[in-house]
Amino acid sequence: MNLTPHFTLEEMRDASSAVTTPAMAQQMAELLEAFRDAGGGFPLKVSSFARSPERNVSVGGVSTSQHLVGQAADVIPLGVDLRTWALNVMVAEKAGNLPPYSQFIVYPGAGDHAHIGMPTIPKRSEKLVMSSPEPGMPAQYGTLSLATIGSWGGGLPRLLSIVGVLGVLGAMFARGR
Ligand SMILES: [Zn+2]
Repeated sequence: MNLTPHFTLEEMRDASSAVTTPAMAQQMAELLEAFRDAGGGFPLKVSSFARSPERNVSVGGVSTSQHLVGQAADVIPLGVDLRTWALNVMVAEKAGNLPPYSQFIVYPGAGDHAHIGMPTIPKRSEKLVMSSPEPGMPAQYGTLSLATIGSWGGGLPRLLSIVGVLGVLGAMFARGR
């Protein structure tokens, strides 16, 4: 059953190890749909949604994780590198084309996934990048912004900035269709 044009109730249930209601899945799917558009229209595979407490511990989730209440989802952008996709999202946000959210966290090298949290009260809109993806080490986070994305992960910043510009142009064309 389609919740939104690109997300189904079945895939939200597949990505959950906790009890969820169709209403919870619907709200999350609508936010994911907005991130899908903002990222340039690339498909997003939902890898995690609502988690049982046991599941949250086993994947190293923090005890305050929004996953525990079905208010966050992890997605893997398909057919695009994570940096280009994240840049597209941030450019869209700057242009006012992203609804409120609480957290947007990208995990390069850790399954190349992104964590997207539903808006909270009080409002916050954190953008972070995991900066130490070594297995077994506690995650360290850096601020993700249009200014810092070029230094994410080091190496080849110039080449990647060209890739990023192409990604943004691609996203603009994708939205124009
Ligand atoms: Zn997550």
